[in-house]
Amino acid sequence: MGGILGFFLIFTFMGRIEYIEGEIIEGLEFTVEVEGKITKDKKLRQGVFKCTCGNLFTATFKSIKSKNTKSCGCLWLAARKAQKKHDFINTPIYKVWANMKTRCYNPNSKDYVNYNSHNISVCEEWKNSFLAFYRDVKDLPNYGIKGYSLDRINNDGNYEPSNVRWADKYTQANNKKFRNGLTNEDIIEIRKLHKSGLFTQRKIATDFNIGYATMSNIVNNKIYDTQVVR
Ligand SMILES: [Zn+2]
Repeated sequence: MGGILGFFLIFTFMGRIEYIEGEIIEGLEFTVEVEGKITKDKKLRQGVFKCTCGNLFTATFKSIKSKNTKSCGCLWLAARKAQKKHDFINTPIYKVWANMKTRCYNPNSKDYVNYNSHNISVCEEWKNSFLAFYRDVKDLPNYGIKGYSLDRINNDGNYEPSNVRWADKYTQANNKKFRNGLTNEDIIEIRKLHKSGLFTQRKIATDFNIGYATMSNIVNNKIYDTQVVR
């Protein structure tokens, strides 16, 4: 008993603290002491600590105790990420991301019913991270060009890296399916076939699987936006 006490006192007199494995120092779990860090005038004691994220990292006891070091670096990274996101908040690309999510998930959005009824969703990574979205769409052709907006290549597909592009209004309109399942390109084609005089309206309507009334409206330019129909 006296031996242990003496041992303890010797260290105390030397001003040297012995840390115990598993000991929590400023919220971090100490595991083992390692070779000290040499600075220009002294050697600082160093330990290996377990971060709250699970990573092991080496730091000086001084920096841990002064709270200069609070994690393996993950906290700093998270803060930097948050800052980076914050820096983007008023940019057009951030609005593209936010609007995309609104269309798919906000019942108050005017587009929600349309997107929800077609089960259009945003891939998990993009849904949870603006930066992941930004990383994937910023290098696609036409990014940042005025008049181009984010478009799903397959109109029935989701917002995900393989299914988006930056498209101008004309391309987007051509891709958009009308309520009857036709695309603008179909409509152009129907008008051409009709104009050729080679087919009856009924024949064309049957081929495109549309009703006669719809067919009639198409050839009479009644129902579709003629601005996007060339
Ligand atoms: Zn960490």
